[in-house]
Amino acid sequence: MCVFCKIVKGEIPSYKIYENKNVLAFLDISQVTPGHTLVIPKKHYENIFELDEKISGELFKATNEIAKKLQKKLQINALNIINNNGPLAGQEVFHYHIHLLPRYENDNVKFNYPKHEFDKQKLEEIHKKILGN
Ligand code: AMP
Ligand code: ZN
Repeated sequence: MCVFCKIVKGEIPSYKIYENKNVLAFLDISQVTPGHTLVIPKKHYENIFELDEKISGELFKATNEIAKKLQKKLQINALNIINNNGPLAGQEVFHYHIHLLPRYENDNVKFNYPKHEFDKQKLEEIHKKILGN
């Protein structure tokens, strides 16, 4: 059984901050910033490609509520939502989860995305690929 399924079952401890029938949220064990929270479906889905769409709606609703709770209780006004799917994307725990990362002045967290300027032809090619059969 995966580590988050064990948390759902109460077999390993966690600092829960939200719970309903299908969704659970708890503090990440390694806090990138204070209040770093994970929101998960109680049922095991490996990643977004497997996730049930009804559950994803419930998850985002809970994520929205939790973000507002963190805003109020931690007095923050900046927050990143991160979700890694697949090893190539940096996923390490293979039970779907959304990271909520409260942001603070001088917290030293930096995202280093490369940005590529694609010309019109390249963008059209990709657009066609995604929309085509
Ligand atoms: P990811 O790289 O998106 O798969 O993130 C997995 C996250 O799960 C990491 O930030 C870990 O710190 C966190 N994590 C792993 N085990 C536990 C645990 N027992 N309780 C809380 N968070 C955990
Ligand atoms: Zn699991």
